[in-house]
Amino acid sequence: MRWKKCGKLYRACADIYGDDGSAGGPGFRKGEGMYSSFLVKYAEIAIKGKNRHYFEDALVGRIYAALRNTDGEFAVRREQGRIYVDALGDYDPDEVVDALRCVFGIVGICPVAITEDEGFDRLAEDVIRCLNEEYPEGNYTFKVNARRARKNYPMDSMEINAALGERILAACPGTRVDVHSPQVMVYVEIRSRINIYSRVIPGPGGMPVGTNGKAMLLLSGGIDSPVAGYMIAKRGVTIEAVYFHAPPYTSERAKQKVVDLAGIIAKYAGAVKLYVVNFTDIQLYIYEQCPHEELTILMRRYMMRIAEHFAREGKCLGLVTGESIGQVASQTMQSLAATDAVCELPVYRPLIGFDKQEIVERSEQIGAYETSILPFEDCCTIFVAKHPVTKPNLRVIEHDEKKLSEKIDELVRQALDTVEVIQVEM
Ligand code: ATP
Ligand code: MG
Repeated sequence: MRWKKCGKLYRACADIYGDDGSAGGPGFRKGEGMYSSFLVKYAEIAIKGKNRHYFEDALVGRIYAALRNTDGEFAVRREQGRIYVDALGDYDPDEVVDALRCVFGIVGICPVAITEDEGFDRLAEDVIRCLNEEYPEGNYTFKVNARRARKNYPMDSMEINAALGERILAACPGTRVDVHSPQVMVYVEIRSRINIYSRVIPGPGGMPVGTNGKAMLLLSGGIDSPVAGYMIAKRGVTIEAVYFHAPPYTSERAKQKVVDLAGIIAKYAGAVKLYVVNFTDIQLYIYEQCPHEELTILMRRYMMRIAEHFAREGKCLGLVTGESIGQVASQTMQSLAATDAVCELPVYRPLIGFDKQEIVERSEQIGAYETSILPFEDCCTIFVAKHPVTKPNLRVIEHDEKKLSEKIDELVRQALDTVEVIQVEM
């Protein structure tokens, strides 16, 4: 049973991060095995100087929020510049690792055994128990990497490395020392208590959500915009989202798909407030009044205006889209400039330099791809011109937009008034 769990965890990580031998762990039950905590490693926020506590507090908050969706009770504590997650009862390690792998700010997740200092013999026994628990088949190369953070420990780190190496070789037949590229790195940290771990499961990196303001994501049902949301949240930005639908041309199922995508983003970004705007009348009116090759640009300009309205209401500091230069006619540099011209808030485009294939890979990695490719219609693809303008001239666009008269303001007001707001939980 325990070994089966170990295999599952190992595979889950290897699938995503490559089979680097660093992922995995046994099935943990508090009181049953050696492991009842996770050491959480973070990188970027450790260099924040005086603001460090602000970032650490945010990270702790995000970790608690992520663990709320797992079975089990946990305490998260900060100690000497580190964050630990302690299991307070039974727990499923796969579930905990999956949850922590969605928390921005974390670069490594280490299942750790924490023991009291009861002399070197006891330490060696504990290390050997940990290794046998994690790698029951034996047959691996290893290196001991000891760190003496508490300087009154009677041996220095080199002595600990050598002495523990000997004990492991004697107790675990089939193991060999390899100091250059060991399969198992045995970390032993002598602190007020002793930390023993050998696996560093990669986290997503980035900054804790909530530490870098809030932005409004234009979320369609496609592949790109959910990835854009993920990327901006990764830098610590809280997300709200707006979706434009065009009933009856777009269906309830198309809308539900966007709600589901918001749910996937929420796994990483926390709860997402989703504004669903009925865009039908605006689209039909633009279609009637304007040159068809300018349709997409004009629609996009109205989307941005409406998104900005809700962004300001929600105190967002910018708009976010899933555009990348040259992907389609409405994403040439001229088209992007024509769209930007209606916005006062900055427009962030985290995918600007990504190729489609790179976006697809990231979409698969974050678990959005399967949902994104469901074949439901999008409002942009329904009212699309055969030959859209690829190099719009801003003056011409502004001139043609004037043909829309006051009626468009009324339609925009209606769209704002009839917005549906959905709170999508993580
Ligand atoms: P995506 O995969 O995100 O739909 P796309 O390649 O289909 O992108 P476009 O349809 O040109 O590209 O849309 C560009 C961007 O405009 C999207 O990434 C998204 O941010 C925004 N957008 C497009 N359609 C909508 C919509 N119906 N509601 C909200 N935002 C939209
Ligand atoms: Mg789209």
